[in-house]
Amino acid sequence: MKLISIVGARPNFVKVAALHRAFRTEPAFDAKLIHTGQQYDARMSALFFAQLDLPRPDYYLGIDRGSPTRQTADILLRLEPILVTERPDWLVVVGDVTSTLASALVAVRLGVRVAHVEAGLRSGDRQMPEEINRILTDQLADLLFVTEQSGVDNLRREGIADETIRLVGNVMIDSLIHYRPQATALNTVGSLGLTPKGYLLLTMHRPANVDSEAGLRTLIELVTKLAERQPVVFPLHPRTRTNAARFGLLERLTRLPGVMVLKPQGYLEFLNLLEQATLVLTDSGGVQEETTYLNVPCLTLRPSTERPVTIALGTNRLQPDMTIDNVLQAVDSLLANPPERTQAIPYWDGYAATRIAAAIRRYPAP
Ligand code: UDP
Repeated sequence: MKLISIVGARPNFVKVAALHRAFRTEPAFDAKLIHTGQQYDARMSALFFAQLDLPRPDYYLGIDRGSPTRQTADILLRLEPILVTERPDWLVVVGDVTSTLASALVAVRLGVRVAHVEAGLRSGDRQMPEEINRILTDQLADLLFVTEQSGVDNLRREGIADETIRLVGNVMIDSLIHYRPQATALNTVGSLGLTPKGYLLLTMHRPANVDSEAGLRTLIELVTKLAERQPVVFPLHPRTRTNAARFGLLERLTRLPGVMVLKPQGYLEFLNLLEQATLVLTDSGGVQEETTYLNVPCLTLRPSTERPVTIALGTNRLQPDMTIDNVLQAVDSLLANPPERTQAIPYWDGYAATRIAAAIRRYPAP
């Protein structure tokens, strides 16, 4: 059985690494990999292939570096001839990025079955490009692998057939469990001169937070105030860096007292920074789940989350507006009363990818 997995952006690498490890143990599987090139920066891509033991992609699409529309168009045109030649039984797509939806669209047109890993998540906010990618990819997929019960409920509500839905757990957590010992041994926290459980970790890259000058000025003010509480570690996403440079704010951002602005971190380095942080502030999707698994408090700087289990059972809390006083109040309250995970999240046990491989092998049997 031939499977082709698609990767395009940083969170995809972390997820597909777990899938590929499981696919390799299925003797009947011939598993290949296509990198669209959506994220191409060495620190966002090559570094992850090396750390996550991902094989060299069988194909690299080298898509345009421009807008999501151009990237979508490029994927449609460049993926089609490959799928025509390879004729895979399954195309496996993960998450909610441009590459996810565009690749699924090519596959269904050619009659190739699509498996969507991390299906069913919904923020309810259609302003987020990721939300549109999620909804449409789920409509196209033949098998939908879900990380948490809310995803199953969402899919049912949208009329997706029950027999195509599988609650299997979280492949991102599979990777975390697999690589955590290596990350701990690396001791990035020590090498940076940080005190374990003595710093705040910040990641910001969503367009709503970093695409405008006003948003970035607010961010700088916030970071300044945060650093009065504890040292702030801030690995800068390329999007945030580019925008800060465009508005002439990069210099200021990188020289704030008490703030360690870093390059985007490798997966292992970042995991170590995550597990030793007092509190994580983020607008990332995956980081909300990783902090819940690690039982580290997380303040998500977004009005909504597509991962509600991280709030219901985990350590995640939402901060819907970026008004400085409100954010600081939330931070102080979390520092004073750190939320704790109330129970293990069902199926977040390191075996999601194994379940996915078995379900694909057995398809269409349940
Ligand atoms: N991550 C990383 N280095 C960093 C920041 C994040 O390795 O400097 C990892 C993080 O642990 C998670 C993934 O990248 O596994 C999340 O990616 P991102 O926040 O870019 O995407 P999102 O989850 O928001 O789609």
